[in-house]
Amino acid sequence: MIQKPKGTYDVYGKKSKQIKYIEKILNSLMEKYNYEYMRTPLFENSELFHRGVGETTDIVTKETYDFLDRGNRNMTLRPEGTAGICRSFVENKMYGTYTMPVKTWYYGPMYRYERPQSGRYREFYQFGCEVFGSDNASIDAELISIPVNIYKLLGLKGIKVNINSLGDRDSREKYREALIKHFEPHIHEFCEDCQERFKKNPLRILDCKIDCDKEIMKTAPTTIEYLNDTSKKHFDKVKESLEALDIDYVVNPKIVRGLDYYTHTVFEVEADIEKFGSQKVLCGGGRYNGLVEAIGGPKISGVGFALGLERLLNALEAEEIDLDENNGIDIYVAPMSEKEESYSLGLTQSLRLSGFNVEMDYMNRKLQNNFKQADKLNAKFIIILGEDEVNTNILTIKNNKTKEEFKVSTDDVIEFFDNNIEEEHHE
Ligand code: ATP
Ligand code: MG
Repeated sequence: MIQKPKGTYDVYGKKSKQIKYIEKILNSLMEKYNYEYMRTPLFENSELFHRGVGETTDIVTKETYDFLDRGNRNMTLRPEGTAGICRSFVENKMYGTYTMPVKTWYYGPMYRYERPQSGRYREFYQFGCEVFGSDNASIDAELISIPVNIYKLLGLKGIKVNINSLGDRDSREKYREALIKHFEPHIHEFCEDCQERFKKNPLRILDCKIDCDKEIMKTAPTTIEYLNDTSKKHFDKVKESLEALDIDYVVNPKIVRGLDYYTHTVFEVEADIEKFGSQKVLCGGGRYNGLVEAIGGPKISGVGFALGLERLLNALEAEEIDLDENNGIDIYVAPMSEKEESYSLGLTQSLRLSGFNVEMDYMNRKLQNNFKQADKLNAKFIIILGEDEVNTNILTIKNNKTKEEFKVSTDDVIEFFDNNIEEEHHE
C-alpha cells in the first residue's frame, strides 16, 4: 500500500472537528480585530527565501524544499508565511492604495525538511498576522494579544508570554560587536553550525539547541544592555501596552529569534507543559522594520507573528480540552421507501438552503434503524416521509427529544422549524 510521505499527517475524525472549531475562532477573531485575509502561493521563486529573508537561518539553509520546475525555474515550497505576504504587499503596491497600518492575516500549510517528531512535521499549518506601516508599540502589543486571546478562547491555561527587544539597527550593531567579542575566544569549542553562525550572524548562536547549556552561552551579554534611548522607549511602551491589555509577560533576554531582519520587539508564546520540551513554543514573532526594504519595497516597517496549528492541538490534548461541540443536526429526513426518495431530496435541499443542518437517509433503512441513526446524529427533529405525506404535502414531524408528533403542511414547514429550533447558526 502507498503510504503518506514522512512528516505529513491526515486529518479526519476528532482532529477534523478540533481543526474546524479552531478555524472558526480564527476567522471570527480576525474580523473583530479588523485584519484582512491574504493568500499567497504555496511556492515562490527560490530567491525570495534564499536572498530575501536572510541566508543564515536554519529554515533557509537546511530546511527548504527546493525544486526545478519543468521550465527550469528554481522554486521553493514556502517554509513560512512572512516573506510571501511581504512580497505581495510590495508587488501589489498595497502601501500606496491602503491607509496605514495595513493589517493582514494568513492561514495555510508550510513546508520544512525537518526531522519529524512530535509537534514537528514537514508539512504543517501556520496562522499568522503581519502589520505594515506603523512604528507604534501599541501595534506590537495588539499582535501579542491575538495568540494570547486565541489560546484563552480555546481554554488553554498554561500559557507564558516571553518578550525581548533587539533594538533598532544601531543598537543591534553594537550588540553584535559585543557578542563577537564575547564568543571569539571560545568559538572553536562550539558546534559546526555555530562556527558558521559566528561568521554570518552571531545572534543565531544564542538560538543553538546543541550548545545552549555551555557556560559561555549563559554569560553572554543581553540585547537589553545595548538598547539606545529610542529603542528603550519603544520597549517600555510595549510593556505598558501589554499591561493595559492585562497580559502577563516575562522579559526573557534569551529570545533573539535568529532572523536577520528582526528589530525591536521579539516574542514567543509557550505552553507551560513540562513534557513538551522544544516543541513547547506555540507561537513566535516580532518587528521586522528592515524586511520590506530588503525585498525591494519602500522603507516601511512591519511586525507580525506565526502560530503553529499542530503544537496548539498537542497542547489542547495535553490539557484534555475537547473542542468537539457535537451540537447535532437540526433535522433528519427519513423516506419510508425508495418511492419517497426524490421528494426527500428536494425537501432536504430546501431546508438546507433555509439555514438548517439536515441529513437524510441514503441507505434505505427500516424505520426503527432510522430512529437509531437520528439519535446517533443527535437530530433535533425527524421528518418521516411515507406515501401519504408525499401525496398530501402534510408532513409528519417528530421532536426527537420530547417524542411529540406534529402534522405540518409543506407551506408552513420553514416557519415551523424557525419557531422550534434555536438560532445557533450565526457566528
Ligand atoms: P522551532 O525553534 O521549534 O524550530 P521555529 O523558530 O523554527 O521553531 P517559527 O519559524 O518561528 O518556528 O514558526 C512559528 C511556529 O510555527 C512555531 O512556534 C511552531 O509552533 C510552528 N512550527 C515551526 N516549525 C514547525 C514544524 N516543523 N512542524 C510543526 N510546527 C512548526
Ligand atoms: Mg525550526
